[in-house]
Amino acid sequence: MATERTFSILKPDATARNLTGAVNAVIEEAGLRIVAQRRIRMSDAQAKKFYEVHAERPFYGELVEFMTSGPVVVQVLEGENAVAKYREVMGATNPAQAAEGTIRQKFAKSVGENTVHGSDSLENAGIEIKQFFDDKDIVG
Ligand code: ATP
Ligand code: MG
Repeated sequence: MATERTFSILKPDATARNLTGAVNAVIEEAGLRIVAQRRIRMSDAQAKKFYEVHAERPFYGELVEFMTSGPVVVQVLEGENAVAKYREVMGATNPAQAAEGTIRQKFAKSVGENTVHGSDSLENAGIEIKQFFDDKDIVG
């Protein structure tokens, strides 16, 4: 295993319910280190670009609308096997299918408002981190 970095977003349903600290506690208890973090309002253009792989999916419009509906917290997480590890810590996309103790099982409201995003591959993690952070703002 190698030390990796992955990209995380605490979505608007998390910030709306003041869950930033509670979600971060699960992340840190899992052994992932938050090496960069910033609270932002995602622009329509940023959200469309970020989720452009889903552009043809029926929920794309709803997804972009949701991601721009309130503040989000963008993060870089570091640790052993961080990409797969964070996917495990987040749980399944649909909270009804998320395993006990995962972030989505604990906090997500629905398949759309599901509290967190995490990169699905090391390659995408690199691309996503670059979209929101400069190297100098990541302190490992
Ligand atoms: P994310 O990319 O946000 O980490 P994921 O990789 O688990 O989540 P994807 O299949 O990449 O899931 O879908 C991206 C996001 O689109 C989901 O997190 C969710 O917010 C939204 N989404 C996915 N499927 C649906 C759906 N059927 N209805 C509404 N929104 C959905
Ligand atoms: Mg995804």
